Amino acid sequence: MIIFKHSSDLRSYLRTIRFSLQRIGFVPTMGALHEGHLSLIKQSKANAELTVCSIFINRAQFNSADDFDKYPVTIESDIRLLESSGCDILFMPDEKEIYPDAISKEKKFDLGYLETVLEGKYRPGHFQGVCLIVEKLLYIVEPNVLFLGQKDFQQCLVIKRLIQIMGKDIEVHMVPTKRESDGLAMSSRNLRLNPAERALAPELNKALTSVKKNILKVEYSGLRRQTIASLENQGFKVDYLDLADKNTLQLVCDPQNKSALVVLVAAFLNEIRLIDNLLIN
Ligand code: AMP
Repeated sequence: MIIFKHSSDLRSYLRTIRFSLQRIGFVPTMGALHEGHLSLIKQSKANAELTVCSIFINRAQFNSADDFDKYPVTIESDIRLLESSGCDILFMPDEKEIYPDAISKEKKFDLGYLETVLEGKYRPGHFQGVCLIVEKLLYIVEPNVLFLGQKDFQQCLVIKRLIQIMGKDIEVHMVPTKRESDGLAMSSRNLRLNPAERALAPELNKALTSVKKNILKVEYSGLRRQTIASLENQGFKVDYLDLADKNTLQLVCDPQNKSALVVLVAAFLNEIRLIDNLLIN
């Protein structure tokens, strides 16, 4: 695996080999890699001739400085994992490389409705920050295929929209969420859970599974209310638990006669905010 820290070096290198390749796959990450990230690398290797992964903790997408400061950093183990998974290139810029001046909040991406619901509503500015970094990375790497995790379902739709805005022809593959054996969606933030929080965390997936199972059996608004109440009784502070159309994220109040839905949840366990979702067909 070749490691690049400067975008100009990576761009020059890719320029020399791009003509001989059909597809370059790209997996952007913020590091603290786990099996979920590696499943994206695996998909890229199966679908593209060259796989580029980036690790950059993007200050612009964090809502609190404290959350940014506490974001886990495990760079040596990340490099080992990427090497053993057969990743070809790691792009690991520092903040000055990506944001040579202060982070510009002036650029505004027109994300429309997507930015007003769910994560967009509870984390104002978050998706603007995501677009700021992803746009830069896409201009540097110029991939043919982008691999994103279903774990961040709304982010996948936002990035598809960004690609439209950029007028680029980049295929997006959404890779299913990798879970721990107890159902907890793998996440770099799980490293910050204390043992009691870690023991409770799988309840989030259990709640989604129960909504999915019962959605057509009982009245939905009651089911939603009960599920939120049960999570809160166990110690979660729920930001949202909502059902939405999986293509538009328009919220759905009555699932009868609807297909292609997704149920999404975000909840705090003390300081740590966890998100998860399940597709319902
Ligand atoms: P992050 O490092 O958290 O920014 O995530 C980088 C990429 O990995 C994003 O596309 C995430 O959706 C994806 N990802 C994170 N966790 C998982 C998971 N448990 N399963 C599959 N993909 C994931």
